[in-house]
Amino acid sequence: MNQSITGNTRLIGLIGSPVTHSLSPLMHNTAFKKLELDYAYLAFDVDTENLEDGVKAMKTLNASGFNVTMPIKESILPYLDELSREAKLIGAVNTVKNINGRLKGYNTDGMGYVKSLNEEGFEVGKKKFVLVGAGGAARSVAIQLAIEGVREIVIFNRDRDKADEICQIIRENFHDVEVKTSELNDEFLRRELINADVFVNCTPLGMGPHEEKSVIEDPEFLREDLVVSDLVYHPIKTRLIKIAETKGCEIVTGIGMILWQGAYAFKIWTGEEMPMEAVRKAIVTGRQR
Ligand code: NAP
Repeated sequence: MNQSITGNTRLIGLIGSPVTHSLSPLMHNTAFKKLELDYAYLAFDVDTENLEDGVKAMKTLNASGFNVTMPIKESILPYLDELSREAKLIGAVNTVKNINGRLKGYNTDGMGYVKSLNEEGFEVGKKKFVLVGAGGAARSVAIQLAIEGVREIVIFNRDRDKADEICQIIRENFHDVEVKTSELNDEFLRRELINADVFVNCTPLGMGPHEEKSVIEDPEFLREDLVVSDLVYHPIKTRLIKIAETKGCEIVTGIGMILWQGAYAFKIWTGEEMPMEAVRKAIVTGRQR
């Protein structure tokens, strides 16, 4: 926590429900302290019923900005004055900046994912990505990948209609990106992975009650030169990541995405680069508690 809260300290917050498990207060308060910036980050339980009041409150209190989490990432859109390009395409917002009383919404989730690959030395341009899952996280990742100019995206999901919705947005807006969907089927997945560059787990398998599960159980689906990434960050090394390691694949855990989506939000609010090493250390330690 920031040690020197004064009458000048500016508020930055998180709204959503639940918020008590969020790593964002720890991340941002660590960064404010490290850079000696006079902000404090607090989490507020706001859901769809009190969303309008919650947004008004952030404005009234003159918060510099705030993060938005489930279940209001989409329903907040009508309360914002402006949207960034990626937020408009994704149809969801995770970061809001208060510009003299006007609220501008951004979505830094997909940007954070791409940056987590870049920091491991992997450039996404012209590559083929295979995703499993078509929820909010998959949507942000897939659309950001299209913005970045990847060659091909294949989305597998149990409910194929949800994957088709994402596919449609990409087809309409990015004519150079090849995109297709499939129901979740092992044989189709194996076939698509033969010439893929990156596999992304965008489901909760590997986390919480599903910790012993993985979207891919057979290491023979993977090749040594395939990058295997998991959006799940608790535990940091999921079952999928461990299976990929046995095959010698390059791995990218979900910690990078959570850190970098926060770093982009931090830059939007403060204009400063987040001190990554201090924040990474704080959240890795925080997760192990
Ligand atoms: P979501 O909107 O609830 O979507 C979940 C997706 O996973 C859906 O497509 C769902 O398929 C699929 N799924 C759920 N259970 C499954 C199962 N047993 N087998 C196969 N598919 C299954 O969730 P989300 O917000 O996209 O989040 C997905 C994961 O990403 C979560 O674990 C979350 O913690 C993680 N995440 C990480 C970051 C980060 O910064 N690292 C950011 C956001 C999210 P159906 O559509 O068929 O139900």
